[in-house]
Amino acid sequence: DRIISPQGSRDDEALARSIRPQRLSEYHGQQPVREQLQIAVDAAKGRGEALDHVLIFGPPGLGKTTLSQVIANELGVSFRATSGPVIEKAGDLAALLTNLQPHDVLFVDEIHRLSPAIEEILYPAMEDFQIDIMIGEGPAARSIKIDLPPFTLIGATTRAGLLTAPLRDRFGIQQRLQFYTDDELTGIVSRSAQIMGIECEIEGAREVARRSRGTPRIANRLLRRVRDFAQMRGDGKVTAAIADGAMRMLNVDGNGLDDNDHRLLRLVIDSFNGGPVGIESLAAALSEERGTLEDVIEPYLIQQGYIIRTARGRMVTHKAYQLLGLKAPTRPET
Ligand code: ADP
Repeated sequence: DRIISPQGSRDDEALARSIRPQRLSEYHGQQPVREQLQIAVDAAKGRGEALDHVLIFGPPGLGKTTLSQVIANELGVSFRATSGPVIEKAGDLAALLTNLQPHDVLFVDEIHRLSPAIEEILYPAMEDFQIDIMIGEGPAARSIKIDLPPFTLIGATTRAGLLTAPLRDRFGIQQRLQFYTDDELTGIVSRSAQIMGIECEIEGAREVARRSRGTPRIANRLLRRVRDFAQMRGDGKVTAAIADGAMRMLNVDGNGLDDNDHRLLRLVIDSFNGGPVGIESLAAALSEERGTLEDVIEPYLIQQGYIIRTARGRMVTHKAYQLLGLKAPTRPET
């Protein structure tokens, strides 16, 4: 497994429980998102109503689940979590919805993976707090309406474009999470270190932060590896030198890129002449799924300006050639 994968593992989850921010004030970064949500939450509470449905999108590991829990905490309601692919039958969804208390938050991760039949049930649930379900079979089948308590659906997805328009339109609040700055991640690393009882100098935290691909999940994971290194090769304290030594050992470069990223960039240069190369061809050449490439691997490379997305496919930029110590061909596009 890649140490810098933004996707979560079981290992991450155990740690996550202890270091996950509980309140908006502990949630670092995402300033505009936090501000807007704080207002919406306070207004809904003031009116004694359920908060509008919220759609949160952004690459994995940026804090969608965390933010959803924080919203429930701020509202002072219970948080129930599920995910798109888990809800297979209408009855699964009906059970979840009918068990909610008024104003509760139902969190649906990977909401773009709901089946069309389940989506249909969700529409009236979201709009009128009602569901129609069929009971019985054949000629005896009939549909019954069930009233639901007013609730807040929080949906998370990696890209807003993956959702059908009717579903997307039913979210009154839509927020996109951005990659975090090095300063914000430094704050997150320092906070996690404190909770984990690690002595961590600010420069040490900064070294971890700048290699974390703008992603808190990666920052927290790297911090744990650095902690081991500090214990074995130092006196337990995380300094800049210790963090740097640990990263070198893990083959994570100064920009948070690893061998896999280098391989991807090299492939585009060596096999596709720098691009443009279609996403399908690139995925096939890397033996990756197209979705993983689009949602997990390339967003950071694009954000950092190593790759650009054009109508004809992906192209590497001068910055990528520079990173690999290669001379870029002279052409106008990059
Ligand atoms: P996502 O649902 O987007 O994949 P998560 O909400 O599971 O991401 O966040 C991954 C980890 O990063 C969590 O363990 C959480 O502790 C940490 N994290 C995410 N966002 C923040 C934040 N804004 N401030 C502090 N820690 C964060």
